[in-house]
Amino acid sequence: MNRVRGWTDTIKDKLSNLVSDDIGIDLGTANTLVYVNGQGIVLNEPSMVALNQKTGQVVAVGADAKNMLGRTPAHVVAIQPLVDGVISDFEVTEEMLGYLIRKAQDGKTRFLGPRVVIGVPSGITSVQVRAVQDAAKNAGAREVFIVEEPMAAAIGIRLPVSEPSGSMVIDIGGGTTDIGIISLGGLVSAKNVRIAGDKLNEDIINYIRGEFKILIGKKSAEELKIATASVLDLETPLESTIRGRDLVTGLPREVIITDADIREAIAASVDQLVDAVKEVLETAPPEVVSDVMRRGIYLAGGGALIRGLSQLLGEHMGVPVYVPDDPLTAVVQGTGMILEDLSKYHEALITQSHEFSPTE
Ligand code: ADP
Ligand code: MG
Repeated sequence: MNRVRGWTDTIKDKLSNLVSDDIGIDLGTANTLVYVNGQGIVLNEPSMVALNQKTGQVVAVGADAKNMLGRTPAHVVAIQPLVDGVISDFEVTEEMLGYLIRKAQDGKTRFLGPRVVIGVPSGITSVQVRAVQDAAKNAGAREVFIVEEPMAAAIGIRLPVSEPSGSMVIDIGGGTTDIGIISLGGLVSAKNVRIAGDKLNEDIINYIRGEFKILIGKKSAEELKIATASVLDLETPLESTIRGRDLVTGLPREVIITDADIREAIAASVDQLVDAVKEVLETAPPEVVSDVMRRGIYLAGGGALIRGLSQLLGEHMGVPVYVPDDPLTAVVQGTGMILEDLSKYHEALITQSHEFSPTE
């Protein structure tokens, strides 16, 4: 008996040296997360690559590249390969995917490469889907499966996506917000808008320039948003001190910003977001809408953490809106669940024959 067990263990060991663990990737505009089967989330890095323009070589990827931002000599540039939810630079995306896939495997290459599930923004074209697949194959993937992010988020949040019943997810990321209603493993209605974290940061920069005549950088705007943004009035107001360049004197100056300032700065964008969500609900089939009204709407992505947003959306839609425990990891967790049961989620994956209708 023991001898048999010993043998099977040895065979398992040998096999695991031959076959790579499967990998799930959330290719976000702001953050890229990687899940390895049996291990969970192993990487969580900004979607950024630093490139030496003289040699064309990649200098750094992820957090290392982000730290270089604004501190590099002129010939080294930090590139975000996904801008506004579309892949703007294929070579750089391929470099980043390759780096992540190798890093997820601890640099060990095996006889059979990993199967990889990649979450992409909804509404990317079939040409772009093919490019992502090629990039992952070139990076050593044995098989590549593509899933649209709202679908992956819904699976990650454990909504019953395979049932004949509507589930609605709003994934508010860095470059885009993906709004989707899912039933029977497919997207019934979806919309992809460019009102997300980056736009709110821009709104904040513009507002502070206009109101206080101070110029602040993107990083400060983001910190300010995370610390102070609330779309509803607060009982205890929030304040942050920020430092920027005075547009009149050219010298550094500090100013105190409140949640009321940020609310005003982002109000127009928040209104547009509410309208986009309304539009998706209005154009969805009535049966599906009644499912959503019963089940509620789920938020995902970093934008889900904006104070009061779920409540505000709930009031506008007349539907309860929920934020899962960890909205930033919903998509990558969904890719992990797909890996564990590819046959169950077969319908949810994009195949080559699928035709895309670009939105916006
Ligand atoms: P993507 O999927 O596009 O990579 P993420 O879901 O990772 O995006 O979310 C990143 C966005 O979420 C950024 O714009 C970031 O500023 C924003 N974000 C992260 N945490 C918070 C927070 N606590 N409050 C408001 N916004 C946040
Ligand atoms: Mg995302």
